[in-house]
Amino acid sequence: MYEARERRDAMTKDIFPERYARELEDLLRASERAVAFTGAGVSEESGIPTFRGQEGLWDRYPPYLYANLGGLALLFLARPSRVAAFASNVIASLLDAVPNPCHEVLAGWEAAGRIRGVITQNVDDLHAVAGSRNVCELHGNAFRVRCLRCGSKEKLPRERLQEMSWQLRREKPSRTGLLRLLLDYASRCRDCGGRRRPDVVLFGEGLPAEEWDRAFRWASQADLFLVVGTSALVYPAAVLPRLARESGALVVEVNPEPTPVTALAGLHVPFPAGSFFSLFCARGDP
Ligand code: NAD
Ligand code: ZN
Repeated sequence: MYEARERRDAMTKDIFPERYARELEDLLRASERAVAFTGAGVSEESGIPTFRGQEGLWDRYPPYLYANLGGLALLFLARPSRVAAFASNVIASLLDAVPNPCHEVLAGWEAAGRIRGVITQNVDDLHAVAGSRNVCELHGNAFRVRCLRCGSKEKLPRERLQEMSWQLRREKPSRTGLLRLLLDYASRCRDCGGRRRPDVVLFGEGLPAEEWDRAFRWASQADLFLVVGTSALVYPAAVLPRLARESGALVVEVNPEPTPVTALAGLHVPFPAGSFFSLFCARGDP
């Protein structure tokens, strides 16, 4: 009898996302050290494709070629036009994207002291654009470059990226043309004159130590860990939900698909992040 009621409750909750929203509001109100942890899924409704899943980037651009330095170098030598097409597609989707209700609500919750900040695996800058201040960027930021010699970082104006995207499309550059575009874009370091590269973490590369230490601390101190839009398959970031859980946090997951986090989660919200979080825009502050 009890089981049947639980099943019916679960079914009506699936039909009424508002019930999940109310539950999350209650949990947030009761928590003192809530932290959000986000992945590509939070930006899907902003128009940036995820890696995995239907119409994910990996269908068109296999990661063994496009997501690590060795593969990109090979491709650059053999098929520069493909590197140019990949780069201009990715850049165009980053430039076109604007924050959706998920980014906005998380920024509002931080400003209201409801969450400590956001740990993100995304490189699209949308949490910052939405107004989040405490953003721990585990995989860097596509709008920033980093000096290979002294490590200093600079966020470049969006127009520079826009210009490069147009040139990539217009010129269909040769190998040398592509190299020139990339070098022009990153330019030399103002501090030491060293070469710079986009400040994003590719597969096989280490995470920025300071950001990782901060994420580790936040996850181990959290009492509520809100995991949104990540497949939780990319390590080491994927250890954070488990670390939070083992340190005593309640894990809440927002993702239309089940993931390895689902089994750890006290609450799994099976809806797309943008439309689910828009419910909080309508309701105001928790
Ligand atoms: P992923 O592509 O591996 O997984 C995406 C997850 O989001 C899936 O579990 C999917 O079910 C879920 N999802 C899809 N649409 C959703 C929606 N509307 N709402 C909520 N969830 C949704 O992404 P990942 O786990 O972040 O790991 C991949 C790596 O790719 C990360 O390191 C990240 O740096 C990088 N990446 C970043 C961006 C970006 O900056 N926007 C985009 C693609 C990939
Ligand atoms: Zn430098």
